[in-house]
Amino acid sequence: MAEHFPLRLIDSRMLAPSVRHMVFERGDGKPFAFVPGQFVQIHFHYDDGKPTKRSYSVATVGAGDGSPVATIEIAVSYVEGGAATKLLSNLRHGEAIDGSGPYGRFCLADADVNRRYLLVATGTGVTPYRAMLPQLARLDARGAEVVLIYGARNEPELLYGDEFEAFARTHPHFHFYACFSRVPRSPPRPHDRRGRVQVALAEVKPDPAHDIAYLCGNPDMVDQTFALLKEAGLPIPHIRREKYVSSR
Ligand SMILES: Cc1cc2nc3c(=O)[nH]c(=O)nc-3n(C[C@H](O)[C@H](O)[C@H](O)COP(=O)(O)OP(=O)(O)OC[C@H]3O[C@@H](n4cnc5c(N)ncnc54)[C@H](O)[C@@H]3O)c2cc1C
Repeated sequence: MAEHFPLRLIDSRMLAPSVRHMVFERGDGKPFAFVPGQFVQIHFHYDDGKPTKRSYSVATVGAGDGSPVATIEIAVSYVEGGAATKLLSNLRHGEAIDGSGPYGRFCLADADVNRRYLLVATGTGVTPYRAMLPQLARLDARGAEVVLIYGARNEPELLYGDEFEAFARTHPHFHFYACFSRVPRSPPRPHDRRGRVQVALAEVKPDPAHDIAYLCGNPDMVDQTFALLKEAGLPIPHIRREKYVSSR
């Protein structure tokens, strides 16, 4: 159930030139439990005093079973002129903001017994999949294939790329495709692709009988990929979506 609590910033680092990884703890000392794929909201006021809120997917790697985690990690992309961007990019360690959560159902369901999981993301849309890593390890152990297709403009914008590549090295059923739409990596790695996520998706040949797909991030990418998967014959309940739209 969603609760309201202060979020105190205890650490942060720049993940990419315009993405800040922020580590919070609950300022009220109570535990925070979430299911990977869920998000938190931050509550604040515009300069004219009107209340507003924004959503951020939880990136924390915990046990992945809904048990409490010590920190609430998010990755915040810089949006020009954005109200939450201004608040979050100026927030200093030790300062607190109003938060609530967890929310959302963009989660891996225990009841799913699919043979293959297609996880597609652009930008900060990859953060739910980072939180899902412990669950993906369990899927790997049961022999399910997981394909993470991640679109970025260039290598510096490939968030958590090292973590996903390290995971792929130790989990034989996990495949990580990095799709570079503007500047390829030099030298390219075996699973790098030139172009948008649709390039790698076509290559892995979506299979309506055995695949379930998760799409997260830029709304245009989510819509285009949804259309492509629907055309490939995936049943709509097997295409799960999280669009990063501003919730004003
Ligand atoms: C379920 C959910 C989860 C989300 N998770 C994340 C997350 O993990 N990380 C993250 O960075 N964001 C995430 N978002 C988006 C986030 O909630 C905000 O919308 C985003 O940070 C912009 O807020 P802002 O107040 O800075 O900009 P706003 O003040 O809302 O917008 C300023 C201007 O920029 C435009 N704009 C808004 N968002 C974007 C954008 N993404 N790209 C380009 N232009 C934009 C607006 O139309 C407006 O003109 C998520 C959204 C949802 C619904």
